[in-house]
Amino acid sequence: MTRGQTADLIIRHAAELLVCPAGGEGLGIIEDGALLARDGRIVWVGRTADLPAVAADASADAAGRRTIDATGRVVMPGLVECHTHLVFGGSREHEFQMRAAGASYAEIAAAGGGIMSTVRATRAASTEELLHRGRTNLRAMLRLGLTTVEAKSGYGLSTEHELRLLEVYRMLDAEQPVDVVPTFLGAHVVGPEYRDCPDAYVDLVVEEMLPAVAERGLARFCDVFCEQGAFTLEQSRRVLAAGLEHGLRPKLHADQFADGGGGELAAELGAVSADHLDHIGDAGVAAMAAAGVTAVLLPGAVAFLGLHHFAPARRLLEGGVRVALSTDFNPGSCHCMSPFIVVTLASSYLKMSLAEVLRAWTCEAAGALGLAGEVGSLEEGCRADIVVLDTYRAERIPYDFGVDHVETVIKDGLVVYEAGRA
Ligand SMILES: [Zn+2]
Repeated sequence: MTRGQTADLIIRHAAELLVCPAGGEGLGIIEDGALLARDGRIVWVGRTADLPAVAADASADAAGRRTIDATGRVVMPGLVECHTHLVFGGSREHEFQMRAAGASYAEIAAAGGGIMSTVRATRAASTEELLHRGRTNLRAMLRLGLTTVEAKSGYGLSTEHELRLLEVYRMLDAEQPVDVVPTFLGAHVVGPEYRDCPDAYVDLVVEEMLPAVAERGLARFCDVFCEQGAFTLEQSRRVLAAGLEHGLRPKLHADQFADGGGGELAAELGAVSADHLDHIGDAGVAAMAAAGVTAVLLPGAVAFLGLHHFAPARRLLEGGVRVALSTDFNPGSCHCMSPFIVVTLASSYLKMSLAEVLRAWTCEAAGALGLAGEVGSLEEGCRADIVVLDTYRAERIPYDFGVDHVETVIKDGLVVYEAGRA
């Protein structure tokens, strides 16, 4: 920033300002940190004592500039949620109780539960109902400091209903502050009309759904649930390769319940991320590291399902794979939208360090969406998506289990949420 330039947002005296440098390591903590933004972008970051002279001009505050005194607070990038099933009809709390009583996944499915029950409810819901659900969820996420949220389709499983979910995401993105990044997941499970001919469903995804999604510009990524009971490696490759031809970068639900070679497939196709990976093997880790595929780990889903086998985060990190975290927010396997619960789970069960868990919710999650250096970091040139936490040091974040501490959320340089205010 050169002398004489203006800023429309100033934050100063942060006890700890976490830069979370994209492409780097560590948190880049600045004590007594400060930041200037203009027109929605960060233009200067450093120590309060080094603020450019322009910040001292109090008359600018009267002219509409916003100055935030962050004394005793942590200031960090707006959190990036890189794997959700954001909008769906119905809910599955009854299933959760069945599981608590010892029922297996197969027993729940036989009783009419599972993904198919959500597909039925989503198809039956009106578009206005789906929009309302989306608004409610995004408002709750914003209050948790999330400023960018990836959202998958996958509860329609017909061309009409998959397109409708993605159109709902486009409307939600346009009408509220949180950026909604849409992912086409038509290959979530085989559609109910194709139960006996899964390859014909893959034909439908490749020949009808994908072209329609691409033509309308409704998705940035194409995802597949590559797992026994969903889609085989071969079917997944076919869907993702077709997505690539339409300009949609691949993402995968991979190696969640067994090492099925999903990590290797992600590497082969140049996927932006491979997600879950609870059972990924050494070959998958090596392939992902070599290809630069980000691992998105979802320990909330493991805990919510009452399972015990968590993703090998240390093996991935020490093997050179970039690791992001997410809730996997969805009605069946993780009805949780709190990044702060996941941060603690990742510390305790994945043995990730403070820097690793907080990078995993900011710059690394941005990388899992192809947005590294754009969001998820407080560096010059990044979008001014910022969270002020009412706690004095970053170490409190995983320690205060389930507490969010979110006081102020800033999106594109504008305050969009303040705790205690409407
Ligand atoms: Zn998922």
